[in-house]
Amino acid sequence: MITLEHVSKTYRLPDGQLEAVKDVSLHVEKGTVHGIIGASGAGKSTLLRMMNALELPDHGKITVIGRELTTLPEAELRKLRQSIGMIFQQFHLLNNRTVSGNVSVPLELAGAARRERAERVRECLRFVGLPDKAKQYPSALSGGQKQRVAIARALANRPDVLLCDEPTSALDPRTTAEILEVLMHIRDTLGVTIVIVTHEMEVVKSICDTVSVMENGKLSDTFRMQQRRGAA
Ligand code: ADP
Ligand code: ADP
Repeated sequence: MITLEHVSKTYRLPDGQLEAVKDVSLHVEKGTVHGIIGASGAGKSTLLRMMNALELPDHGKITVIGRELTTLPEAELRKLRQSIGMIFQQFHLLNNRTVSGNVSVPLELAGAARRERAERVRECLRFVGLPDKAKQYPSALSGGQKQRVAIARALANRPDVLLCDEPTSALDPRTTAEILEVLMHIRDTLGVTIVIVTHEMEVVKSICDTVSVMENGKLSDTFRMQQRRGAA
């Protein structure tokens, strides 16, 4: 579902350059959860952002859902990104739109008709367990509820892939566990392929099928979490 081959990324800075990702190769199977763990500054977010071409690599090849990102024209990339949901540590909700309005954004961008939008928004809010919050504004919600709204928004266009950048780092342990439950439910019932960047070992232990350790721009190790699929 996601393949990286010898991917490198260097940022040009005013006073030189910074090699954020160095010769990374990685394969994530369809319908699995892959964790990328490592210290702050290791290059995890950069790697994740390259998986939906928010950043482009200087070298190497990235294939997502059968499309090679580095060769796609911008119009095609925009379309492909509709099949790739993304969530963030700080939720990134629009505070001047209601919960429904937020979940509706990707549907509007995709040109969905009003009726379909309303239906999908309802479906997605039901999926994340917030059917009664549609008319609320984000400021009225807890952190965990905000992340659920962000997840609903990421699911609106029925993505094949969900990219998560520190999705639980702003949440307390109990709320973290709830959000991880939602992500597992997405994998198990929708078959979505999930990549999670995190510095929290707990996240890796509880939901990842495979894990890569990132250190100083390189993947130092990739392994399978033994018990996961069998235990599910
Ligand atoms: P992580 O997610 O593991 O904390 P990042 O991918 O955010 O790591 O960052 C890796 C390195 O690249 C860091 O040194 C960071 O400061 C640098 N970096 C990240 N994004 C940019 C950018 N847009 N421009 C310049 N440097 C960046
Ligand atoms: P996160 O909450 O994901 O850790 P960061 O604070 O690492 O976010 O980065 C926020 C944004 O700033 C990202 O888009 C990243 O590309 C950019 N960024 C990070 N480090 C640098 C840097 N050294 N120079 C320029 N931009 C950076």
